Amino acid sequence: MYRCSLRGKFKKDFSLKKNKLTTYDVAVLGDWVLFDESTEGIGVITKIIDRKNYISRKAKRLLGSLKRGERLEQIIASNLDSIYIVKSTKLPEFNNRFLDRVIVAAESCGIDAKIIINKVDLDERNFANEWEQFYTNLGYKVFITSATENIGIEEVKKSLDGKVNLFWGQSGVGKSSLLNSLYPHLDFSVGEISEASLKGRHTTVTGIMEKVNENTFIIDTPGIRAIDPYGIKKEDLCHYFIEFEPFIHSCKFNTCIHEHEPGCAIVKAVEEDKISIERYESYLNILATIEDDMIY
Ligand code: GDP
Ligand code: ZN
Repeated sequence: MYRCSLRGKFKKDFSLKKNKLTTYDVAVLGDWVLFDESTEGIGVITKIIDRKNYISRKAKRLLGSLKRGERLEQIIASNLDSIYIVKSTKLPEFNNRFLDRVIVAAESCGIDAKIIINKVDLDERNFANEWEQFYTNLGYKVFITSATENIGIEEVKKSLDGKVNLFWGQSGVGKSSLLNSLYPHLDFSVGEISEASLKGRHTTVTGIMEKVNENTFIIDTPGIRAIDPYGIKKEDLCHYFIEFEPFIHSCKFNTCIHEHEPGCAIVKAVEEDKISIERYESYLNILATIEDDMIY
């Protein structure tokens, strides 16, 4: 483990970019870098290797930005194989709105999204199985777990093996408990501590990456509670709802954003139960948060 700083050049490039309002972070979790070892255990990063992919979100609105739509892109992590979205059956109650939002973010980056429904021990009414069926039918892998009762943990562990995996979950779903039961020898709560101690001028620590065995990495994101996907245009959103695809090209207008245009094939598919109302509502919900004057 080396503690590295960035060469001055990167900081300069970064401020240039910052003026153009394109990106937020220089080196991010998951990056492969070259560095010179200056003192023992300490290095200076000389090159960031091109990213195969990355997931980002809209950063907080800048104070004093001129136009309403000006938002920076904040890269959360790069070079990912999978994103695990953790939800719980209860406490907090399962809802598909945030889940679909993260799925959209993952789809738009071309990263495999998988779903974990935790706290199955509290699920007296078997909601977990219904939602499992729902998302399995769409084509997503769903795991049902209980971190406290040790249910489903081994299956998740097998699926993580040999990959770079990012975990995302809203507060209280049991993400830390899950990670700790998956890898008892690691303490994932350290994420919160490093966030405070590493905070520097240009750094927002949003997560921590742990090597859990030779080829398996886990990125925990305790600093990320909401994901507002970055860089998606209204007319492209439908592509990230994978079950919409067969209908998209049958709309009357090729500029259709499937909201309330006449002759919309998506709306028709919803009416005919070929697309679920839950997913269509998620779609409308995200659509409403995409600003018209967004500058990319
Ligand atoms: P995080 O905010 O997502 O990291 O959630 P935590 O891991 O801190 O867990 C939040 C609360 O849920 C804690 O009180 C845990 O003990 C509890 N919890 C976590 N997993 C389970 C589970 O599978 N079943 C039950 N009943 N409680 C759980
Ligand atoms: Zn349409």
